[in-house]
Amino acid sequence: MNDVLLEVKNLRVVFHTYRGIVQALDDVSFTIHRNERVGIIGETGCGKSVTSLAIMRLIEPPGEIVNGEIIFEGKDLVKLNENSLNTIRGKEISMIFQEPLSSLNPVMKVGFQIGESISKVKNISIKASQKFVRDALKAVDLDPERVVNLYPSELSGGMAQRVMISMALSTNPKLMIADEPTSALDVTIQAQIMNLLDELVSKMKNTVILITHDLGVAAQFCDKILIMYAGTIVEFAETKELFENPLHPYTKGLLKAIPKVGNKNKIVGIPGSVPDLVNPPRGCRFHPRCPFAMEICKIEKPTLKTESQDHLVSCHLYR
Ligand code: SF4
Repeated sequence: MNDVLLEVKNLRVVFHTYRGIVQALDDVSFTIHRNERVGIIGETGCGKSVTSLAIMRLIEPPGEIVNGEIIFEGKDLVKLNENSLNTIRGKEISMIFQEPLSSLNPVMKVGFQIGESISKVKNISIKASQKFVRDALKAVDLDPERVVNLYPSELSGGMAQRVMISMALSTNPKLMIADEPTSALDVTIQAQIMNLLDELVSKMKNTVILITHDLGVAAQFCDKILIMYAGTIVEFAETKELFENPLHPYTKGLLKAIPKVGNKNKIVGIPGSVPDLVNPPRGCRFHPRCPFAMEICKIEKPTLKTESQDHLVSCHLYR
């Protein structure tokens, strides 16, 4: 059996704006195998969420996928029509967004909303879906009898994210994309939600893409980590390998910026900021911030190559 679930090849996404063309994703390629949990990490504006929206084919104008393939179970999602996509979204690929309350419809009761999504996927009536709704809510440790009758505004942030998770997992999707699922929650609730996700996807054996800017969360949850910078992939490796042997200067900078208990040294951030993608730097997009930049880095774009087994890096230092 082929254990590749998703293959993204040479993906390029742009946004047409009044300032010019934002080159949001530039030649992004990666492969995810069944049952893997892959964390996509990077600062704001590096292309993490655009990647996940492209996989769901939710890039709307002024955004556009201008090149590349997104092969999911042998089908190129870029080429599918809306009807075919609707049979995949929700059923085979589902998504949890970072703002659960803004993702739920404020005028519909929770039971109806979850039922509506289950009924579409299972092709049953909303009434018939209510048994599944209750099972889905129980799975995320919510009291189904109470929660089905609540409106989103009556939920706390943590409860709303549990509802979103129950909705996303109610169809047991092959791939679940969690886009910063805890960033809108306070720290104690964040840990509860990540533990819950961990427990559920272990049980259901879903493949997961976790979008986060928090390397600590990714280290605990993911098998592999993919680092993005300014719309490009700069490094991709197994989690342990990435933490023990980071190669790309940007990854090293991110790791140095993690606060550690008992560490009296000053936390060192990465100087500068992510470039404007309307006019990204030529060559390596990281070169204006890189302490190791060479002449070639300003001219030639590095490509993602295998440095050691299953450890990919895009940097001229390794050529
Ligand atoms: Fe730094 Fe050059 Fe490597 Fe880019 S390619 S990260 S500028 S050394």
